[in-house]
Amino acid sequence: MAVRRELFAGEVLFRQGDPSDCAWLVESGQVELVSVQGRRTASHGVFGAGELIGELGLIDGTPRAATATARADAALLAIERDQFLERLQSGDPILRTLVDSLLQRIRALVASLPTDALLPAEDVACDDPIERAGIDKIRLEAQLREALDSGGLEVRYQPIYDIAAGRVAGYEALVRWELPGRGAVSPAEFITLAEETSLIVPVGEYVLDRVIGVLTELRGQGVDPLPSVAVNLSARQLVEPGMARQVVARAEAAQLPPGALKLEVTESRMLDYAPVAAVMTHCREHGVPFALDDFGTGYSNLTHLHALDFEYIKVDQAFARHMFDSSRAMRMVEAIVAMSHGLGAKVICEGVETREQLARLREIGVEYAQGYLIGKAAPTEAVLSGEAARRGEAGAREVVPA
Ligand code: C2E
Ligand code: MG
Ligand code: MG
Repeated sequence: MAVRRELFAGEVLFRQGDPSDCAWLVESGQVELVSVQGRRTASHGVFGAGELIGELGLIDGTPRAATATARADAALLAIERDQFLERLQSGDPILRTLVDSLLQRIRALVASLPTDALLPAEDVACDDPIERAGIDKIRLEAQLREALDSGGLEVRYQPIYDIAAGRVAGYEALVRWELPGRGAVSPAEFITLAEETSLIVPVGEYVLDRVIGVLTELRGQGVDPLPSVAVNLSARQLVEPGMARQVVARAEAAQLPPGALKLEVTESRMLDYAPVAAVMTHCREHGVPFALDDFGTGYSNLTHLHALDFEYIKVDQAFARHMFDSSRAMRMVEAIVAMSHGLGAKVICEGVETREQLARLREIGVEYAQGYLIGKAAPTEAVLSGEAARRGEAGAREVVPA
């Protein structure tokens, strides 16, 4: 189903009695809802930008109660049924019961009215800031779906530097969303939103597709060995049924050598360890290693390291930023590195911005550095042309002289 609809004045969006397959958010223009009740025709109002129509039917699946007709040229975004139901079903059970009971009462009330009684408007405009925030979120989610459909997400590649070898060994794939009229939306914002619903699954597939495409192209250009590219996955994506099999199947279909594709686990509440461990084992056996992302902050805690076997540990950028603040901060970095090595994992330090940081990391035996000193996340073309240019050169991909 099209996520966006453009209507000319007079065009019908849906008719009374049609199945309620989605709700619509009016982006611009005006849409009127009119129902025929017995012998009377009732208007339920004219809806403009930022207003939602047809959402009640999404909750209980009853057919459209009115016909929606554009009164001026209009643009609308579809809010799919899954998008609503998923939130409702994963929400607080008490709230869910309240919504169900309210809806049943409304429906019963409507059914008990004489056929010529005027129905109240199905949908009301909201000017409450909290509801506004809700509408904004609904809109952002619908726009994200649209971006997925239309290829509006971009994947950028930030280099990861092999400190001892003095060259770029690989990249981390970072997704970007350029939203018309709003500019770049930070992944911190839309990944969180996507994680609230199963939208994170197609976002992950999108990124994975792009990354495998880039690696395949590099191989086609004769780049050997291939750089490794790390894809971020949230814990939720990781335990999505079939996810691991799909990652492995895609890597194998593209005939990628072991280690060319890596996975970084972000947002590490880590749900349940047993399924995560099973997924990790399956991927590892098929040449796809794992990194624990943002170690040392947020949800990332020692239990993850105790329960799961990571090949790489990415030390959060906060540590590089503060390592010269005090000897205590430095000792913490050293201790994290020693612990990671003790567990057989290699260390990647994030957020390396200065030569002093890099030099110190080299001294304490950190294997990899990532950060603005090496390079910011760059578009696909930069990776393709950069890797091709370095092909065959001795000491390939050298960027920061020792
Ligand atoms: P992350 O995986 O920890 O990615 C590193 C973040 O640090 C990136 O931000 C990167 O641009 C930023 N960064 C790198 N080097 C430096 C530096 O030297 N200084 C500073 N100040 N920042 C640096 P970005 O691209 O905004 O991504 C934010 C987060 O969004 C990522 O954190 C990751 O958790 C998440 N993310 C990005 N792409 C994806 C994706 O495709 N899937 C999932 N699930 N999450 C993603
Ligand atoms: Mg990451
Ligand atoms: Mg990180």
